[in-house]
Amino acid sequence: MNISVKAKRNIFILWLLVVPLGSILVYQYAPSRHVEWDAYLILLLLMLLTSSFPFFISGNTMFLSQWVSLAAFLNYGIFAEMILMQLSILPIAYHIKVNKDNFYRIAFSSLMFFIISVVCGVVVHLLGYNLGSLEVKDLLLFGTIYALCDVILNHALIYLRDSSTGNSPKLVDQSTIWDVIGLTITLPFGISLYFLESYIGTIAFVLLGLPFLMITLLVRLYSNSEKVNADLNEASQFGHELAERMTGKEIIDMFMERITKMFPIDSAYIVDDLYGKFQILRAREDGENVELFFAPEDLDNSLAGVIYKKGIPTLFDKQSEWINMKPPFLASDMQSVMCVPIYRNQKIESILVLASRKKYAFEAYQLKMVHLLCSYFAVSVEKAKYVRNALARSERCELTNLYNYRYLDKRLEFFMEKLSLGEYKTVSLIMMDIDHFKSVNDTYGHHSGNIILKEFARVIKDEIGSNGTVARYGGEEFVILLPNYTKVEATNIAERLRRKIEQTPFMVELDLDEVSQEEIIFITASIGVSTAPEDSDEGMSLLRNADRALYIGAKQAGRNRVAEYVR
Ligand code: GH3
Ligand code: MG
Ligand code: MG
Repeated sequence: MNISVKAKRNIFILWLLVVPLGSILVYQYAPSRHVEWDAYLILLLLMLLTSSFPFFISGNTMFLSQWVSLAAFLNYGIFAEMILMQLSILPIAYHIKVNKDNFYRIAFSSLMFFIISVVCGVVVHLLGYNLGSLEVKDLLLFGTIYALCDVILNHALIYLRDSSTGNSPKLVDQSTIWDVIGLTITLPFGISLYFLESYIGTIAFVLLGLPFLMITLLVRLYSNSEKVNADLNEASQFGHELAERMTGKEIIDMFMERITKMFPIDSAYIVDDLYGKFQILRAREDGENVELFFAPEDLDNSLAGVIYKKGIPTLFDKQSEWINMKPPFLASDMQSVMCVPIYRNQKIESILVLASRKKYAFEAYQLKMVHLLCSYFAVSVEKAKYVRNALARSERCELTNLYNYRYLDKRLEFFMEKLSLGEYKTVSLIMMDIDHFKSVNDTYGHHSGNIILKEFARVIKDEIGSNGTVARYGGEEFVILLPNYTKVEATNIAERLRRKIEQTPFMVELDLDEVSQEEIIFITASIGVSTAPEDSDEGMSLLRNADRALYIGAKQAGRNRVAEYVR
């Protein structure tokens, strides 16, 4: 919950104004009965035990200690009950891991408990309850009124706090239901405890207290396993969603966002081992991605480096456990830290560091869960990389590493689409075919032919650079797509290429003899050029046009020349 400094101060002021003086007044004026110390100490013990073991049900924390305080009130009056309630804050303070930032919560609880003790007590006294009464009808009536008053006030005060601190609470929500359920347990138990204790003495605490504590323990075990179950479900959902992402960036983004929401995490970092040097791959602080740079040595000489060497997920409950290896990126107000190595192929690729400002924020099972999620993460990244590589391979020619026909076809359609949308004015296409390549193969062998094809590909790729798309169309035929190039410009490029090829010495290996021998040869190429939209506004016919220009205009006219398509 976000609460301003001013609101915190107001809570403290209100506490100072109400609780100390109010307690004196209650002690002086509220009806009370002589306290039997042995019974009262047992009540206190029960109170501390029941408030030490809260339940977590559907995101609500439930303390079932009202039955003990009800019995104390019915017997000894407001002051005795009030002291028990105030002391029950001690285990609650331990439970919420109190520190100077959330200390106001203790003041608020104390104030709230005080008001509830006084108001509920005063209400039933005014309605006619006399302490120590053993009339069943009285006890049922006043006990019920007391308990209802308790639930209603509890809610009203929390509602008041949340609306005055700018949070928008609901008057009735899920926790109301749990409170009513709690009431149906604590009310009969409270009245029975009071009754039984009045008749049979302190043995009543054993008869009622023991089974109550046992049931508490069982329910806690159950609700804890429910919590683990819910987290496991979320983790598996998370894993599936990760696996659906296709790019590494998407996977990292999603991983960081989801993991910081799933656990009580204030900041998260992936420290990556990039060729032996640590760097921060991604950082998320208070729900925002941030860019961080640190010297690799500083990262290495920290928690990240230690866990990297150790190789096992590690949990730190408070700052003193890691401060002597504080990483430069961790803020000095962080307390709990989870450090988990991310393995890929049995090797640590990175270290995930998750931090919270609270002490003891993480549980051991959550560390295991993060570890599991890290494997999902690593597998998803690996899969995305594999898919990307496979996709890239399916679009390339193995020999020359140029794009293949499949990709060329897609790219040509894409350019024609842009042309039709008016985003490009022209699209030119150059088709090249090596002259007499069959005889090169026949003379120098197929292997030498391959070397020439590779070298030929490199030469045209170097000439075109990023101006166009170069693809191997077939055997010794190549196509270059030039978006936004006019026919004249494309023809000039084709001519430049033709000359470049003609002048380039190609090294071949003569593997026909026993000993291999190197030789330099020269080759030429014939080239056809066509341009959209002037020759055609359709991809396939643009290819056909260039092909026709190549065969009729260049090959048939004597080879080693450039021909434009003419209708
Ligand atoms: P033209 O001047 O008319 O184009 O004559 P050409 O010999 O180049 O044409 P043709 O189409 O008759 O022969 C093409 C040759 O290219 C046939 C084939 O041996 C060779 N070839 C096609 N693909 C490869 C390849 O991947 N590696 C090698 N080494 N040769 C190839
Ligand atoms: Mg040829
Ligand atoms: Mg050919």
